[in-house]
Amino acid sequence: MATNGDQKQSEAGRHQEVGHKSLLQSDALYQYILETSVYPREPESMKELRELTAKHPWNIMTTSADEGQFLNMLVKLINAKNTMEIGVYTGYSLLATALALPQDGKILAMDINRENYELGRPIIEKAGVAHKIDFKEGPALPVLDELIKDEKNHGSYDFIFVDADKDNYLNYHKRLIDLIKVGGLIGYDNTLWNGSVVAPPDAPLRKYVMYYRDFVLELNKALALDPRIEICMLPVGDGITLCRRIK
Ligand code: SAM
Ligand code: CA
Repeated sequence: MATNGDQKQSEAGRHQEVGHKSLLQSDALYQYILETSVYPREPESMKELRELTAKHPWNIMTTSADEGQFLNMLVKLINAKNTMEIGVYTGYSLLATALALPQDGKILAMDINRENYELGRPIIEKAGVAHKIDFKEGPALPVLDELIKDEKNHGSYDFIFVDADKDNYLNYHKRLIDLIKVGGLIGYDNTLWNGSVVAPPDAPLRKYVMYYRDFVLELNKALALDPRIEICMLPVGDGITLCRRIK
């Protein structure tokens, strides 16, 4: 039988694993949040998509259920109507957003991979929110460049969720700051990057964590210095930094 000490150690070990969906200090506390507040209120369609995604080999990429609940609430709180998502995968955060938007709300959703989106699409359709989604397959940056060319897109987005290639976040920011309206919100996801932002230089990090870490560190510094936004970094999921455009 495991002793209390053993149990604590294995919990600590698990917390160092890449892909753990919470940065909280105890797995039990995280489970408590999921079981008391998230799962009982999770819409059936989101549950179905979460379970489908759990069987996919790249499931480590999905937004966690607690973060999905947070995004859904956030979109409602700010009365968002015109939104954008960069990095869709099977669509869990997309569905969380789509369910929160009014009937005439819109999401421009971009991903280089359509196949994974197609896995989730039947569930999104069944949930009755597919009409809000305009999915574009391909890299997001050229789409943003196109959007920026037309003045009428400037300041036209209420909410933008960025959850794709971390080495491009600053390139996205340069463009998104013109597309988001003053008072609107950009959410940059994974800004605590598996906790690696505070890992010592010799920490044994996985290759991809190591590769993207410097980009995340650079982004975090740049956002903190950017006078055009107010920011708030939350330890939800793998860390999300909310940026509210103020000028
Ligand atoms: N938000 C998703 C969810 O809730 O499941 C998770 C997104 S996953 C972490 C990152 C996604 O970004 C992948 O599906 C990947 O194909 C996509 N991606 C990577 N580079 C991209 C790029 N340059 N433009 C658009 N999407 C990209
Ligand atoms: Ca993410």
